[in-house]
Amino acid sequence: MDQTAYHEVLANIEKCEDSSGKNPGEIELIVVSKTFQADKILPVLKDGARRFGENRVQEAMGKWPELKKQYDDVELHMIGPLQSNKAGDAVELFDVIHTIDRDKIAAAIAKEMQKQGKKLKLFVQVNTGGEKQKAGISPEEAVEFVARCRSKFGLQITGLMCIPPFDENPGPHFALLRKLGAQCDCENLSMGMSADFKTAIEFGATHVRVGSAIFGERG
Ligand SMILES: *Cc1c(COP(=O)(O)O)cnc(C)c1O
Repeated sequence: MDQTAYHEVLANIEKCEDSSGKNPGEIELIVVSKTFQADKILPVLKDGARRFGENRVQEAMGKWPELKKQYDDVELHMIGPLQSNKAGDAVELFDVIHTIDRDKIAAAIAKEMQKQGKKLKLFVQVNTGGEKQKAGISPEEAVEFVARCRSKFGLQITGLMCIPPFDENPGPHFALLRKLGAQCDCENLSMGMSADFKTAIEFGATHVRVGSAIFGERG
């Protein structure tokens, strides 16, 4: 039987759910469609995928409003670095943001959600590898930052997100995110991509973000 890459990834996730004692469908697969245009995304929508991730507000605005007209139950996840001047557009287009990582962004998102009367699901991004070029709050500041997001900005942070360094064993990073999540009462863990989502699930991921395993390599 000819199986699409999307269904293959879903089946792999289901196997991981089974071996880690989770219920089928408990782990949320976010299909990362960055750099791909509507002609590539539509077949995956037709296949049944409804949760998609993008890393640029501008790029997402160019394709998703039209796609959402055809598939109005799509849940769109912002997984890239955010700038406060894009907070309005981000809140308007996205349903979930994974990348809250500093006070300025927390304040801007809070203000926009109030203004637009819209409540998004929110994750705080943690820079578990302490990489200079990478977004995310440092692990040392993460618990305090989540508390501040809640108390000072009134944001309901329900999860943590990380992107381990490209050239390192991801396990210790996933373990660290899980530990921090427990410390700040964040039940959701957004971690794991095409190369390591199985490992991430072993370490307790609730959301995995998979692009190239579904769409092929990005150009
Ligand atoms: C691109 C991207 C992914 C998907 O990566 P793949 O290796 O293509 O699965 C996941 N998370 C983030 C934050 C990304 O930018």
